[in-house]
Amino acid sequence: MRRIVMLVLIFALLCGCVPADEPLPSTSFFAMNTPMSVQIDGGETLLRGVEELAYALERKLSVTDEKSEIFAINSNGGGEVSSETAELIEFALDMCESTDGALDITIYPVLRAWGFTVDDVDYDNGFVLPTDGELSELLALVGYEKVEVSDDSVTLGEGMMLDLGAVAKGYASDRIAGYLRKNGVTSALLNLGGNVYALGKKPNGVKWTIGVADPINGGTLGTLQVEDAAVVTSGGYERSFTGSDGVRYHHIIDPSTGCPADSGLASVTVVGDSGARCDALSTALFVMGLDRASDYWREHGDFEAVFVTSDGELLVTAGLEDNFITQGDYGGTLSSVIR
Ligand code: ADP
Ligand code: MG
Repeated sequence: MRRIVMLVLIFALLCGCVPADEPLPSTSFFAMNTPMSVQIDGGETLLRGVEELAYALERKLSVTDEKSEIFAINSNGGGEVSSETAELIEFALDMCESTDGALDITIYPVLRAWGFTVDDVDYDNGFVLPTDGELSELLALVGYEKVEVSDDSVTLGEGMMLDLGAVAKGYASDRIAGYLRKNGVTSALLNLGGNVYALGKKPNGVKWTIGVADPINGGTLGTLQVEDAAVVTSGGYERSFTGSDGVRYHHIIDPSTGCPADSGLASVTVVGDSGARCDALSTALFVMGLDRASDYWREHGDFEAVFVTSDGELLVTAGLEDNFITQGDYGGTLSSVIR
């Protein structure tokens, strides 16, 4: 018996059936306000193509670039945009409605009051937290229902502004994966600032292993094995500052209060087919908190999720029960499975 095992092993090694993981051609760059890295089972030209595509999407969708389509409609209360941008806005508005406003792409006036996506904010010296009065005035400008999209024409209510920051990177991952597939790529891993997309399997035929960050202790919480899937995390730990009152404030705003979401979650990771949908959902579920998010998952069922609560509890939805392998401080201590 032992001899047969040895023979099989030697045969496998000789015919290359168990190749070691060789590093794939890769590139790293900065786009959409975040570091991005991609590895592709393909050549230099495709790597450059991916970078170009990310920059092109940034030029269209950025809320701060004065030449972007979003900047133009925010400055003019609306206007004509490309079909691509119009479709993405429509998709995002559908997600706002489906999440009952936990996602609201018109939150931008409030986000700015908290100092996010504003240049030259000095949180240590002189940044003044918005008052309740200021927030309620700004919240009057928030409301995705007041945005109209007809063909490629967008109309905003008075003083309103759009921000696709919660969906743009996930959308970019779908577009880049589409570009690569069209060019014959069957294996690639994209990481667009925490928005991961795994195209196909690794070149050796094994699924991609994706680490999920530990939002509380740092390091890795656990791993997922995926193929042709997006894995997107939203967490308060990603962009935040400590206010003059000693409180930590982060960049995901609860549209019902105008304040950074305080729903008892430290992070939400969403796994599914579409990067744009997973991105929208990771932000929205973070705002909703565990109970509402679990109900949303039960109602929709086309994605799976990993939740870490602010108390350090770790929960996964049923579809990840056998897939998510905990490690580090969480080794073997899944708090519960959501069914
Ligand atoms: P990240 O951009 O850090 O990966 P998210 O995908 O969760 O994280 O998006 C957070 C961004 O989305 C914020 O920086 C802001 O631009 C925007 N945003 C914050 N709160 C909301 C909200 N409730 N609805 C829609 N967009 C939001
Ligand atoms: Mg998001």
